[in-house]
Amino acid sequence: MTKIIALIGLTTLLTSSLLAIPLSAQDAQIRASQTKIRQNREEIRLLRRKCLSEINLKQYKTIAARADAYVKRKVRAHIAAKHARIKYIQGRIEHWRRRKNTTNVNNYKAQLKIERQFLTHEYMNNIQVVFRDPGLFHPVNRKVKDWPAEIRKAKKMIAEHHRAKARIQQLENQIETLSSRIDERKAALDPRTYLNKNISEICKHGFHDNRKNQCAHFVSHVKEIQFGYTCDRQTSSRTRGGNIRVQEIFAACRSVGQWRHRPRSTNDCLIFVTEAANVDLANKRMANVRQKHIGIYKNGYVYHYSNSRNKVVKCTPAQFKAIYRGTNIQTFYGILR
Ligand SMILES: [Zn+2]
Repeated sequence: MTKIIALIGLTTLLTSSLLAIPLSAQDAQIRASQTKIRQNREEIRLLRRKCLSEINLKQYKTIAARADAYVKRKVRAHIAAKHARIKYIQGRIEHWRRRKNTTNVNNYKAQLKIERQFLTHEYMNNIQVVFRDPGLFHPVNRKVKDWPAEIRKAKKMIAEHHRAKARIQQLENQIETLSSRIDERKAALDPRTYLNKNISEICKHGFHDNRKNQCAHFVSHVKEIQFGYTCDRQTSSRTRGGNIRVQEIFAACRSVGQWRHRPRSTNDCLIFVTEAANVDLANKRMANVRQKHIGIYKNGYVYHYSNSRNKVVKCTPAQFKAIYRGTNIQTFYGILR
């Protein structure tokens, strides 16, 4: 017996805790965005470890600057050596010309041509790369073998730092976009967003007829109830709209009951008002009568579409019940998911 009672207690606890989660938090889109944000934050945490402190970055930059100075020095020396060599060859050419030794003149001319190639733009670009990369073998950088490991490490650390920083920025931008997407989504699912709005501002399917009863239509667009008889069938819109029949929504609820019996933890559910005789709670059925109305209950207030005022209005559950006169008028709750 005790076991059974404990089991019932547990079930009640589980059910009520499930109901306590607001609908917007159960939304798949919001959940997906929240997961992505969590993943991004974790990646940022790991990337921050690769970032250097201001002091370390400065130290490594000083070391790297030494490497740059080294390359510049090397290139300058190379150019100076080439100019000296060219000058020497030109002197030789002049010398052998005076002595009319054509063979020697031609030999030196060929050498001059080769030496001049070492001063072309293309070659100078290559040589800079060669000096910077100690791993490459090239006759002119044989001496670069002793490229200090310290400089190599500095360059690597700086590069890693900048890569991490750039990625962090990218991830932070994503988080910002996702957060505003969550806010937009939460607003779309929140009935308070629609207060004082006409159905034309709520329905994107063109079913805006103010003479028609729009209460279920409004609820369906906020709660994305897209089964059964939907608004797009009234306008031949190509995308799926929202259900426009109170009794169909009532029948599709996961649970329904008299308003006074609604689970206490629920602060976001549907509310229906009609004559008690129109409702068959055991079979979750509501008769298709004219006098029935639906709204969304959230944190103490009901948001519903007033067909006389042609806009979404806010009231208390007691005021919602008082929409219809009569001693047998009742309010009911409905929990969708
Ligand atoms: Zn619609």
